[in-house]
Amino acid sequence: SAPPVQHGAQAGDSSQTEEDETELGKEDESLLRKLIHSKLIASKSDLDILQKDPNSPLFSVKSFEALNLKPELLKGVYAMGFNAPSKIQETALPTLLADPPVNMIAQSQSGTGKTAAFVLTMLSRVDTSQSYPQCLCLAPTFELALQIGEVVKSMSKYMSELRVLFAVRGEKIERGHKLDQHIIIGTPGTLMDWALKFKFFDLKRIKVFVLDEADVMIATQGHQDQSIRIQRGLGKDCQMLLFSATYVEDVMKFAQAVIPNKPIVIKLRREEESLENIKQYYIECSSKEEKFQAIANIYGAISIGQSMIFCATKKTAHWLTEKMSEDGHVVGLLTGDLMIEQRAAIIKRFREGKEKVLITTNVTARGIDIEQVTVVVNFDLPLTHDMKPDCETYIHRIGRTGRFGKNGLAINLIDGNRSYNTMRAIEKHFGRTIEKLDADDIDAIE
Ligand code: ADP
Repeated sequence: SAPPVQHGAQAGDSSQTEEDETELGKEDESLLRKLIHSKLIASKSDLDILQKDPNSPLFSVKSFEALNLKPELLKGVYAMGFNAPSKIQETALPTLLADPPVNMIAQSQSGTGKTAAFVLTMLSRVDTSQSYPQCLCLAPTFELALQIGEVVKSMSKYMSELRVLFAVRGEKIERGHKLDQHIIIGTPGTLMDWALKFKFFDLKRIKVFVLDEADVMIATQGHQDQSIRIQRGLGKDCQMLLFSATYVEDVMKFAQAVIPNKPIVIKLRREEESLENIKQYYIECSSKEEKFQAIANIYGAISIGQSMIFCATKKTAHWLTEKMSEDGHVVGLLTGDLMIEQRAAIIKRFREGKEKVLITTNVTARGIDIEQVTVVVNFDLPLTHDMKPDCETYIHRIGRTGRFGKNGLAINLIDGNRSYNTMRAIEKHFGRTIEKLDADDIDAIE
């Protein structure tokens, strides 16, 4: 039975206006992930090989030794704390390092080891006794280029001769100058000017061409054309590689256009999130205050490791943070008005356990996995922009992939008909019961 329709004061509190929070753009989302240094996502799914090269059979390796790397490079890999290749690296690396070089398009979700794979390829093929650009890496933004540079820096720790340069707007180089760095990392526009207009380096001498984050890349006007123009200037023996976190049609079209000559195409299936080990409850409330009271009861009654609370608006999130703090909880607050670096810092603190509760809004938590969270509270249920139940966001908030395995608890706070209906729609969508919990019978949870 549905709770009675609520009118008046409470309606304003739960109305899900986005206020002035802007959603992260794809490149910011990507940068945030890199800044919080997500660990490697171990994948159980199989690798799909969508296109093969009959002349170079695919095989896979289980160790970095098996790759016959230069000793100083192998040392660098181990210094990064990598013990064995990740799932995608197992198959990608032998092919990436094979001679003659093979072109490749590879797709797998963020955090699966793509960057490490292509950085290793560049470092393996570069000849530091030769002072001219030999590897070219395209990234969607300056900040993302810098992140790749960081990986190059750590992995090349024992390659003391290696020189890297960032090709980004603002980097001034005198006309007529010839670059002597080995690896150039930059955004397509600047790289195109450097290579084609100013001829600071010779595209024909590039051995490895990498296009990273193709899906983010194509979201920016002009990047596709610029990338293709750069690629056209490369020599025919240049190894061309493209990486993407998603595999949708327009990304693939672009990939095929920019990586010619029958590349090997590999794809790692995304691990599906599931509600398998999650107990889901709902509590009926009639106001924001009652919702807070419900949370206070729960936190008082059961011992909770780390938890996240999702609010629809920044205003509610701030309000709740204050109430929870007054109640003695150590709370972190993550909202959309913060800079990417600030967000990363808050997420890191929470990960390190400095706060036990993280209160956040819809827009900020995308793509952030925090393993140790065992309780998720939907202070407000997720709605799409057109106010429909947002099942995808719901499962992302509370679902777990195989890698987390642990049991979890989800608590949905309901206030009024609309949120009740939203909850039922979500329940129906996933076919898993969301049980009712009486606010004064919290013990039932355990
Ligand atoms: P992607 O480019 O797919 O997002 P990254 O290459 O950035 O993935 O790797 C994600 C995280 O995993 C990084 O912190 C990276 O240092 C780490 N990592 C990559 N490869 C390995 C490996 N073989 N073993 C352990 N950690 C790894």
